[in-house]
Order: sequence, then C-alpha cells, then structure tokens
Amino acid sequence: MATAPSVANCNQTMISVAEACEIIAANITRLPDEHVPLSAAVGRTLVQQVRAERDQPPFDRVTMDGAALCWPPTTSTRPIEGVQFAGDPPLALADRDNAIEIMTGAALGDTANTIVPVERYRVEASAGQRQLVLEPGYVPESGQFIHRRGSDHETGAVLLEPGMIIGGAELAIIASAGLERVRVARAPRIAVIATGNELVPAGRPIADHQIRLSNGPALVGALALAGYSAATLHHLTDEPAQLEVRLGELLTDNDVLILSGGVSKGQADHVPSVLTELGVEKHFHRVAQRPGKPMWFGTGRRSQLVFALPGNPVSTLACFRRYVVDALHVAGGRDVGRKPTARLAADWQFKPKLTALVPVVVRPDDDGQLWATPVTTNTSGDFSALGGSSGFVELPAAKDDFAAGESYPLYWWHGSTG
Ligand code: AMP
Ligand code: MG
Repeated sequence: MATAPSVANCNQTMISVAEACEIIAANITRLPDEHVPLSAAVGRTLVQQVRAERDQPPFDRVTMDGAALCWPPTTSTRPIEGVQFAGDPPLALADRDNAIEIMTGAALGDTANTIVPVERYRVEASAGQRQLVLEPGYVPESGQFIHRRGSDHETGAVLLEPGMIIGGAELAIIASAGLERVRVARAPRIAVIATGNELVPAGRPIADHQIRLSNGPALVGALALAGYSAATLHHLTDEPAQLEVRLGELLTDNDVLILSGGVSKGQADHVPSVLTELGVEKHFHRVAQRPGKPMWFGTGRRSQLVFALPGNPVSTLACFRRYVVDALHVAGGRDVGRKPTARLAADWQFKPKLTALVPVVVRPDDDGQLWATPVTTNTSGDFSALGGSSGFVELPAAKDDFAAGESYPLYWWHGSTG
C-alpha cells in the first residue's frame, strides 16, 4: 500500500509502540466476507446488519401457565372451554364468562384479555364439565401476564450491526430473524512458523545443547483462545535457502504469517532478509519496547500480514498479544475498542527509555477494581515465571518510576478483545 505509513530505513530507527500500532493498522487489508451456516458462525465477526423478520413477540404471548379469561371477571366459578398449549393456534372463548386453560408461550386469542396463574385457582369437575374456581378474594388485573405483540421490537428493526462478535446471544437473534446463514468475515489462514536450528519439539529426543520448541504451541494456543483456531504450525531451520523456499510457499497459502526467532542481529538471523527477498515489504524493524525490541513487520504482495517476532518466549507472547491479536480482529472487521486498565499493586521501576510490557497477576478487589501484581522474570527468555500470570500491563517509556495505585492499560493473555 503506497500511502500507508512505513519506516524506510529501520535498521537504525526504533519506533514507539504507538507508531508500531499505527503502521500495522494502516497496512491491514480487510478479509473478504463469506456466507456461513449458523453452526459455523460462532466466534466469527458479523459483517451484515440483522433485521427482525417479524414483530417480537409475534403474537400476544402468555407468560404464565394458567387460565385466560375476560376482564373484569364477573363470577368466581366458570366452565373451562378447552386447553391451549404453546404452538397451538389461538382458541377463542365462546362465552365471555368461561375460561381457557393456557400455557406459557401460547398465543392469546382475541377474546380473553387477562391471565390468571394456575396457583390462583382450582379446577373442579361436575357432571363431566370442568369448572375454574378462583381463589377467594383474588382479583386479576386487566392484561396481566401478557407479553404484547411487537413490544420488544417491530418487523424490520435492526437487531445486530456489523462488527459484532457472534456469541450465544447473537446466534439466538440471528436464528430468531429466520436466517439459516449469515455473512461473516472469512477466517484468516494463519501460519505460525518457529525458526531456529536449536529447536526440538516435545516428544523428540533432545541433546543438552538444544532447546524445546515452545513458541509454536504457545502461539497456536494463544491464537485459538483469541478466536483463530485453524492456524498451522511449522518449524524451519535458520538456513536461508530452506527459509526462502518454505516461507515462499507459506506466503502463497496464507493471509497471515507469524514467525518467531531469527529477527535480531545474530549471524543466523536471516528472517528479515529472506522476507525482503520474497517481496514482503518491510514497514518496521525494532520497536522501543521491552520485551520485544527486535520485532519486524511487513506485508506481502497480496497484502499478507507478516509479523516476525523475536524468539525469546516472553517477547514472542507479549508481541503477539500486543500487536497481532488486534490486527487479526481489524482484518476481520471487528471493533477492538479501548483496553481495560488495572492498578499497580506494587511500586515498579523501569529506567530504560522503552515501553515496558510487564507480566502481571491480576486480581479484582471487593469493588471489582483490578489490581496488577508484576511478575518478576529473570530475562525476556525466562518464561517459567509466566505460568498462571494474567497478562501484562503497558508502562510508558517516558517514566521510570511507577507507583502502586496508578492505572495502566492491561492486556489479558486470554482476552480476545479488551
Ligand atoms: P532468536 O530470536 O532466534 O535469536 O531467539 C532468541 C532466543 O529464543 C534463543 O535463546 C532461542 O533459542 C529462543 N527461541 C527461539 N525460538 C524459540 C521457540 N520456538 N521456542 C523456544 N525458544 C525459542
Ligand atoms: Mg534463532
């Protein structure tokens, strides 16, 4: 995209977290839509309006099991003409002094105009005729226990807007509008690519000098929790020729590439040069943040989003949560909204002129206020301390000392939005 902001010569330039967000946002291309059955719509982003098929309720709906009669009741005992269940066509009273037993959800006919709950009368039988006997002294109100036609909304009312995530409530509304299929953003095809000669997946024999491949499963799992469960996982070595062939194929087959490792300044860090070779336009390399300084971002020839995240596991997860999740949502047309905040539960100091993404454990107090206790990690490679943590808070680069009680943006590890 020629007009989108980009940092041309990034090897020396370090941009801020805010600039990185702006550049990513400006380079996102919306995914196309697709028309999916309701069974495939949960968790997807709606890209159409949904309007009411009918008035809601579509008829005067009885809201109590009981009896329908005409108000005001003139006698306390009356013959029962019949019984009407939900789903039955409405019965009409032949005589205004009679009653119809009627169930919750049934459509009230034109004649009766109040409902007496079953707890307020008894039924007696005499000479084969069932009689309703009202509780002594009980006087129903006119129109009680009737949910009037169209009182929730009328036919054609807009019930859902584009950008909403489809959850249980939205599915109920879509189904109630009579739609069997709905337009949603197509799920992005995502490849997670762990790079590094030293990496050995769990389950394989490992030598002392090797490292377990953990970022791949971490990213695939984090993607699933964010609503993107179909990502594929790949492991590539640091060998440039292999990187070029495999990344070329993955660029062809995917909308989004999320790489980990190989973006720093080491002699085996070939990811940026190989991506450039493959025609991926670099938009930035290096962000003034810790962890995650070496992060690289670009877009492919078909506007594929390419996030090359540093390999240190804390950096990988923090960068993923900070940048990638929202980018995927925006590509699908979802509103990402403002981030929640949490108050620091302890003083914290961070002197480098970098934005600090500080892992925290978050607990609500009795008033629901969120309190974030920083988790001390050894380095950005120490992810053992992250187990059970809630997410991270973002502390601005301009400050060194952060006092307990101050509020900062919070990124939940498991949050799909917020
Ligand atoms: P790199 O960004 O490739 O220089 O990697 C930085 C550090 O993260 C190195 O110690 C790597 O061994 C480690 N690392 C890279 N990728 C992974 C991964 N997928 N799982 C676990 N550790 C990794
Ligand atoms: Mg590496």
